Amino acid sequence: MPEQLTTEQQALVARAHQFAHEELLPRHGEPASSARPAIIAASRAAGLFTMTQPRAFGGTAASALELTLVRDTLAASNPPHLDAVFGPGPGVLANVGEPLRSTHLAPLLAGSKRSGFAFTEPDDAPAPTRARIEGDMLVIEGQKSYVTGGADAAFLSALVQVADRGPALVVIDTHLPGVTLTRRFTSLDGSHHAAFRFEQVRVPTAHLIGAPGEGLPRAMRQIGDVRLLIAAQCVGLMRWVLDHLTAHLRAPDRSGRPRGEKEGVRLRYGELRIQAFAARSMLYRTARLADAGENVVNEAMACKVFATETVGRLVDTAIQLEGGHALTDDHPLSILYRQVRSLRLAEGGTDVLRLNVARGKLDLDKGLI
Ligand SMILES: Cc1cc2nc3c(=O)[nH]c(=O)nc-3n(C[C@H](O)[C@H](O)[C@H](O)COP(=O)(O)OP(=O)(O)OC[C@H]3O[C@@H](n4cnc5c(N)ncnc54)[C@H](O)[C@@H]3O)c2cc1C
Repeated sequence: MPEQLTTEQQALVARAHQFAHEELLPRHGEPASSARPAIIAASRAAGLFTMTQPRAFGGTAASALELTLVRDTLAASNPPHLDAVFGPGPGVLANVGEPLRSTHLAPLLAGSKRSGFAFTEPDDAPAPTRARIEGDMLVIEGQKSYVTGGADAAFLSALVQVADRGPALVVIDTHLPGVTLTRRFTSLDGSHHAAFRFEQVRVPTAHLIGAPGEGLPRAMRQIGDVRLLIAAQCVGLMRWVLDHLTAHLRAPDRSGRPRGEKEGVRLRYGELRIQAFAARSMLYRTARLADAGENVVNEAMACKVFATETVGRLVDTAIQLEGGHALTDDHPLSILYRQVRSLRLAEGGTDVLRLNVARGKLDLDKGLI
């Protein structure tokens, strides 16, 4: 739980809180191009930037609980430019050997190369992205879509079906002949994505991340880490929404009485608090289980589904209780509404994750209550 913390963990929470108030909140309205370099420098100085990076590359490889504490604390201030606080993590390249360690992982962590995660296929793709092995080369054919940050990516970590071997993750440099960026687009939350086509793209087999057939479990582990991260951010945002709503309900309405005196309003407010308490509790339990070495694939899915759905309900109800004023374009609740909606699809749609949690128990006998 967030309550039973060591002195060091309490100091970390205090540092994250101070960082949000001194380095992020004053940058509301500042464009990312000028805000990011300053935030990165301040985050390095505060020891936050390297928390997501491995020790072998100068990082501090923070525990799941430490990362959860910082993400929850930062998001609880609903600050801008949150994505600039942490350095790039290794993602699916964690534990790769040479040559990928030098050619792709090191520059990724140093910030000199950006990458994209290419998992989703366009709805109209005639067949899954596939590869055949020719000597020491893979020849790749297919399409990917919704690659976040793909337009700026030097390489993609892509899931491909290798003939007779199964799914594999492979690193595809975006400058290679046969790789075409077919579309750039933005989503409701304002993030940028790209679609790619691969035509007879030749990639060395040394660019395989693990053996063919291991691709899906590896991708799932990476997605599992990101799911916990999303849940932590949602939980922090829930706390911001509740603080905002509490202040609103304590203030008087047109009659001069506090808005929170109405029983109907109290019922809704109480229900939101119950849901946020449940979401925060399951998040911290899962982070502690992860640090104890447990496999938390199912628990991370449960956290992601519940936290993204709950924060959506909280923002939606807070808008309803606050009234039309909260729907104006620049109102923080209106901005948050757009921001959190995408999280119920990113990193796995809610219903698909529900099915996976069911499969975890019914077919694999995994998953806790
Ligand atoms: C902001 C954002 C960032 C993203 N970034 C990336 C990225 O970097 N890389 C990447 O690869 N992808 C990315 N995605 C894509 C995301 O992973 C997919 O949108 C998501 O996994 C859902 O897949 P889909 O869009 O193909 O929808 P589908 O798989 O077609 O599912 C659509 C809906 O159909 C229903 N459905 C589907 N299958 C089932 C089933 N078996 N049983 C019951 N109902 C079902 C569900 O209601 C589901 O929500 C991103 C998406 C968003 C919104």
